[in-house]
Amino acid sequence: MNSVTVRVPAKVNLQLAVGPLRDDGYHDLVNVFHAVSIFDEVTATAETGMSVRVEGESADQVPEDGDNLAIRAALALAGHAGRPYGVNLLIRKSIPVAGGMAGGSADAAAALVACNELWGLGLPREDLMEIAADLGSDVPFALLGGTAVGTGRGERLTSLDVAGTFHWVFALADGGLSTAAVYAECDRLRQASGELVAWPQAAEALLAALREGDAEALGVQLGNDLQSAAVALRGSLARTLDAGREQGALGSLVSGSGPTCAFLARSAAHAGELAACLKDAGVARDVITAHGPVPGPVVV
Ligand code: ATP
Repeated sequence: MNSVTVRVPAKVNLQLAVGPLRDDGYHDLVNVFHAVSIFDEVTATAETGMSVRVEGESADQVPEDGDNLAIRAALALAGHAGRPYGVNLLIRKSIPVAGGMAGGSADAAAALVACNELWGLGLPREDLMEIAADLGSDVPFALLGGTAVGTGRGERLTSLDVAGTFHWVFALADGGLSTAAVYAECDRLRQASGELVAWPQAAEALLAALREGDAEALGVQLGNDLQSAAVALRGSLARTLDAGREQGALGSLVSGSGPTCAFLARSAAHAGELAACLKDAGVARDVITAHGPVPGPVVV
């Protein structure tokens, strides 16, 4: 086999509960991850060295060197196998870059699956999960897909039962937001207000809405503790979120650390209408529809 292509989805956080700042600088999180039908494609081709090329959506903002998360994943896998494997990775991006939809983590997960296949390693998913957890806190979910609760730094995962399909609209912003800057702003806002930060917990009503496939109930329960920090750093997001609510979204929130905003619709048709209204309102660089949950990385 000379080349393997893997398709991998983006994620939106249906709930992102951020605990108090820990002594090590991290936060304990409760993260309800949901994989949606916006996909990057990673093609791994046998080569002697390690290289990466990026095409598509905002490709110019993605490093094409050892800083690329997909190359780091391939190197970690070769290290695990104890062999000096080589690969060329071609990443075709559709997931917005630095958009709070874990595009880099998705590419890393896709690279693990593609190289495992290309190099004939046959490692089980559990082994890939361990390598994924070392690469970043969103990479294990990117490998899992579907809908799952993540605790700790997001890496301890439990898959959730979800009835049916939910329909989403995503408003993409111009330029990204740095995840580290958004967490720092969240800490600053909390300190300034003297807010007592509760231990993060998954919202039981949100889990029930997912189990029952109840979009109306899910819309009410969507929540992101990073949202006020993302809006503080990017004031225009307040208008985007308002516009979605005014146009009848069942719920709206900033995706992860932003600046992408997610809106829940009643149906695929409603998502199409909502997307058209948001485009007309001129509150986003681009507006796209998607559905979830979808499976994790798949060899195509
Ligand atoms: P998260 O939701 O996990 O916080 P994000 O979706 O906000 O992440 P990414 O698209 O993963 O952000 O990009 C974050 C940064 O990582 C970007 O600034 C980018 O330069 C860098 N990066 C490294 N490798 C990749 C990759 N393969 N795809 C996208 N970005 C990458």
